[in-house]
Amino acid sequence: MKDIQEVYQKDKEFCSDRFRSLTYFSNSIYQLLVEANCLECDSDLIGTADRDISADSTTYICRSCNEEYSYEDFVTQSFEKKYELTHRDIANGAEDTSCACPECGGYFLYHEGICAICGHEDSLICDLCEDKIHPSEVEVFEGRCSYCNYKWEKIMAE
Ligand SMILES: [Zn+2]
Ligand SMILES: [Zn+2]
Ligand SMILES: [Zn+2]
Repeated sequence: MKDIQEVYQKDKEFCSDRFRSLTYFSNSIYQLLVEANCLECDSDLIGTADRDISADSTTYICRSCNEEYSYEDFVTQSFEKKYELTHRDIANGAEDTSCACPECGGYFLYHEGICAICGHEDSLICDLCEDKIHPSEVEVFEGRCSYCNYKWEKIMAE
């Protein structure tokens, strides 16, 4: 009988190898996925259906419970789990690390300026005051922060 630890190590290595073979929009997505656990059974043995392709074109499969996840579901839920802010964090002034992608509405990595789902890049800098806009403004962002946009509309109305 094989040592259970040995079997696990082999399986784990298989999974890590799959993750290493994929290409990602950002290294932090790789970091997240290679350490992610199954959202159903919490196992860390997650494999992918394919190798050597782009990470968003494969399926993620738990080798313990066989649950399958699409790229979007797996990435979004894993990020949300990792960076979940409690009410207490927010009360203490914690900033959201994500917002909705201006392009696809998916999980956008605010500090990196890249969408984890579609790869859309946006520095989120206001054209007028050159300040970085707040996560809550990203969805309506059209090159201007809400303050400059307010001033702009006022000038245009005059
Ligand atoms: Zn599972
Ligand atoms: Zn996007
Ligand atoms: Zn501005």
